[in-house]
Amino acid sequence: MKEIPTWIYEKWQGITDLLSKLIGIPAALIMHTYDEYMEVLVSSSTEGNLYKVGDKKKWHGLYCETVIKTQRELLVSNALIDPNWDKNPYIKLGMISYLGYPLNYPDKTPFGTICILDYKENCYSAEFKQTLYYLKEVVENDLIAMFEFNNKEEKLNAQLLQQNKLLQMLKESAEENEQRLKEAQHLAHIGNWELDIINNNLYWSDEIYRIFNCKPQEFGATYEAFLSFIHPEDRNFVNESYINHLSTKKPYNITHRLLLANDEIKYVNERCTSEFDKHGNPIISKGTVADVTEQYKYEQKLLKAKEEAEQSNMLKTEFLHNLSHEIRTPMNGIIGFANFIDSPDLSAEKRSYYANIIQSCSLQLLKIIDDIIEISILETKRISITKDSFNLNELLMELYSVFNLKVVDRNIQIHLKKGLPDGCSKIISDRNKLHKILSNLIENAIKYTYEGFIDIGYQIDGDILKIYIKDSGIGISSENQASIFERFSQEEKEISRKQGGLGLGLSISKENALLLGGDIQLESEKGKGSTFSLVLPYQPAEPIKEFIRRNTHTDTPDLTENVVKILIAEDEEVNYLYLETVLEEMHDIRFKILHARNGKEAVDMFIKDNSIDLVLMDIKMPEMNGYEATKKIKSFRPEVPVIAQTAYSTESDRQKAFNHGCNNWIAKPIGKDALHKILCKYI
Ligand code: ADP
Repeated sequence: MKEIPTWIYEKWQGITDLLSKLIGIPAALIMHTYDEYMEVLVSSSTEGNLYKVGDKKKWHGLYCETVIKTQRELLVSNALIDPNWDKNPYIKLGMISYLGYPLNYPDKTPFGTICILDYKENCYSAEFKQTLYYLKEVVENDLIAMFEFNNKEEKLNAQLLQQNKLLQMLKESAEENEQRLKEAQHLAHIGNWELDIINNNLYWSDEIYRIFNCKPQEFGATYEAFLSFIHPEDRNFVNESYINHLSTKKPYNITHRLLLANDEIKYVNERCTSEFDKHGNPIISKGTVADVTEQYKYEQKLLKAKEEAEQSNMLKTEFLHNLSHEIRTPMNGIIGFANFIDSPDLSAEKRSYYANIIQSCSLQLLKIIDDIIEISILETKRISITKDSFNLNELLMELYSVFNLKVVDRNIQIHLKKGLPDGCSKIISDRNKLHKILSNLIENAIKYTYEGFIDIGYQIDGDILKIYIKDSGIGISSENQASIFERFSQEEKEISRKQGGLGLGLSISKENALLLGGDIQLESEKGKGSTFSLVLPYQPAEPIKEFIRRNTHTDTPDLTENVVKILIAEDEEVNYLYLETVLEEMHDIRFKILHARNGKEAVDMFIKDNSIDLVLMDIKMPEMNGYEATKKIKSFRPEVPVIAQTAYSTESDRQKAFNHGCNNWIAKPIGKDALHKILCKYI
């Protein structure tokens, strides 16, 4: 049974009460039937009424069963005398008379009955029957009303349910869309924002927080707070773009930088439009922020690559131009002087002079061709290196001798400083490549140094060998120091062209250095000079310890003791290097060698250092000659032997040397044995 609303209960209670009062009977009831049961649904509140709401009984034998089954009025006036009803269980309650009508649901299925019962015989008048029948209809109408109401309610509920479902679906789809939007924003690195201008309230989507690398609670959500994320150099530009947009009402699209809390710089593209009220005042601005950092970097890379390609193109054009100039110059010399040399009335002197020019031009041409061939070979990356053991000091000495000749008539001094004694300077590397690299670096040093010095030397630091070429030349400005290693590049075109060159030397040297497992480093200051260092892995051919052991066996003196401090006064670098080499080769005496480049320097060094044991004195020197210097040295410490070494070989020269205090004398070129003998005499 559908739940009966209270208002119907109350109405039905009124009906039963009215019935019982109307004819003065003890019980008026509305019964409900279900599963062959009868249950009291409403019972008149008459005194002595034995039927209580909720009482129920199986319907067999009850008056109501018959009413429901027959669907007709039932009148029992006195059950005691009615053979059909004298077994009726109601009789036990004393109810001998009964009048009842069936009650049906709107669909005509049985609902129950409306009935009255009495203790005494009762025939009930026709009006009364009419009244009861009328009340039956009232109850059934209530049932119809109740059903209609219930149906309506059900419909309403169904509608509500439907609407709720729809709302839920819409909500889910909105959430899904929002999630999709978030994912799309995340994938595209685009976030959106909205600024409520009147309340200065700024909304950011999750993606903007991600791009700006901050959390909602860290952000003040105002326009000013947003500006604080902009790179200080772009802040004015962004602010002005926005203000300009508000006055022109034209949407804007700008790219600018952000400077984030972790010092990271990002590039973002920002678009914005605004809504205005009818007076033209802005109300809301809306926009997007796209993180274009990667794209920006990529574009920069492309731009750089384009610039490099253009630069390389330009360099190649320039190179061809240079090449033509470089080839023409020596060719002119060769062709021009080859014509002259043929002339029959040319003096022998002039012929030899022209031949020299032709030779030098040919060498120049050869060098250009060599460079071009080498760069082409390097380009193929098919170059192998041949490592072998060789003496580094010998290689440097060779280079030194060759290049020293080239500067004889220039105001340049070349010095060579060997980092190890000759006996232990054997290394393993590719001698040819090393020769090529160093020649090129020294050649450049000579080309770009107009006066001063060029130092050639090396140091060993752990397993690194650093060979340096230091010059006091024109130097290279810091912004060009990287580019000069690129092919065809020259710092100052005019100077380089005047000096002759294609801008290939350093790039060839660098690539060769890389092939040897090393690199070329550069330190330079414009106007002061440059130091090019070839840094290589140090691979000694024989460990230094082994060298010492070999040279300290029993019949030679202990190298760690009895070091002889010797001062060599010599202005010619080659001569000094020669002496140094000869002394180092004397394995039975260990020397500490000091070098003075003129007589004055020799005297100063001697005064400063009173542990000098012996002096090898050149005679012809700038500033102060050897005679004067010996005289001064002898006046300080006459016991220190001074040995003159000179190319002057007349008897009077010797005498002059002795007169100025020299203990002995040795003629140039100095033989190793002669020197050894004379030194042994004084040490
Ligand atoms: P180039 O044939 O022009 O000398 P390189 O590749 O050998 O070509 O050198 C490139 C440029 O580097 C030179 O044109 C010059 O501007 C600069 N440079 C090289 N070595 C030196 C140096 N020792 N001092 C000053 N500038 C130098």
